[in-house]
Amino acid sequence: MKKLPNKKGYFGEFGGKFVPEVLIPALSELEEAYRRISKTTVFKRELSFLLKDFAGRPTPLYFAANLSKYAGAKVYLKREDMVHTGAHKLNNTLGQCLLAKHMGKKRVIAETGAGQHGVATAASCAKLGLECEVYMGEVDIERQKHNVLRMELFGARVVPVYAGQKTLKDAASEALRDWIANVNTTYYCLGSAIGPHPYPKIVREFQRVIGKEAKRQLLKAGISADCIIACVGGGSNSIGIFYDFLGNAKVKLIGVEAGGEGLNKRHCATLSKGRIGVLHGTKSYLLQTPDGQVSDVHSISAGLDYPGVGPEHSYLKESGRVKYAHAGDLEALEAFEFLSRKEGIIPAMESAHALAYLLKEKEKFRGKTVVICLSGRGDKDLGIYQENRGKRYGY
Ligand SMILES: *Cc1c(COP(=O)(O)O)cnc(C)c1O
Repeated sequence: MKKLPNKKGYFGEFGGKFVPEVLIPALSELEEAYRRISKTTVFKRELSFLLKDFAGRPTPLYFAANLSKYAGAKVYLKREDMVHTGAHKLNNTLGQCLLAKHMGKKRVIAETGAGQHGVATAASCAKLGLECEVYMGEVDIERQKHNVLRMELFGARVVPVYAGQKTLKDAASEALRDWIANVNTTYYCLGSAIGPHPYPKIVREFQRVIGKEAKRQLLKAGISADCIIACVGGGSNSIGIFYDFLGNAKVKLIGVEAGGEGLNKRHCATLSKGRIGVLHGTKSYLLQTPDGQVSDVHSISAGLDYPGVGPEHSYLKESGRVKYAHAGDLEALEAFEFLSRKEGIIPAMESAHALAYLLKEKEKFRGKTVVICLSGRGDKDLGIYQENRGKRYGY
């Protein structure tokens, strides 16, 4: 298997650096710093300490007996919900903030949707003594008040974004604008495997810890997985768990996007319904209107509410190695409730999409061994649950 991205930052025809000229030197500096610093023993030792004692890794690979019985399959959950601050996001922010520190940057900025990446960045900055500002859409600030408080408690400043749909895409655009203005002093800590090269690669490398651990845990237990399922927003938890299995053709890989209200209404199923375009510095599949404007998107989970997707996923879709599917708002809601009732685990509404796909397609998985990436925990989603509960009970 050839190593991607190539030197120019492409995964096949996807990726690249579609940014204003002022950012090119900053991206080159980042690429060079990552190449140089991430290999050093000091960096590796510091990061592995942080992942272990601060983040709480390794996370369990948990056999979900009740869910397995219901699904007629052996289902294991990779418990990223048990990572400190509540999601896989911290794997990436610890890596990037540590990199920022080694690069001598004192100020870190980030964009956030659900607030999970903002919280993880704020916690990493608190731990590492860095100044932190987080851009967040006004709608998301309203949806995720609790996470705003957590960021502020960690000493970060939350900057409301009033442009566009006032959600994740708009927050990312503002963060990029800030970076352009303050590029000499500021590190931009991107929250998913998106954006201009080298971000999709850097984020993947820091999230690979999920798949590396899962692989080791399966081996140790003498189990081989038939299938791995993960939800796809920008695509970081999914590429993180998929990457080390890409070379093993026996393992089927399935990414689940947010089907929202249905694929004929508002949704975020970028790889099912998008066309190739450029957003936030990268060429990838993108949800756009017939005349090429970025579409308004919707998902019940703020973390999947994004019209683009990481370029590596576009490549993996084209190559056929990963299959991309979708689950809708109500299916996710039911899965959210199902896991809570049957396993005593409240999944993040994002992760519930991966679970929902297994539940709705369970005939396909009968007798198989399935690993689901439980990317985060659902405490942050209780408000959304309260608003929507009772809409449908299928199980
Ligand atoms: C942010 C988030 C996601 C979506 O982002 P990816 O980059 O696609 O992983 C999924 N699950 C949780 C819990 C999140 O916080």
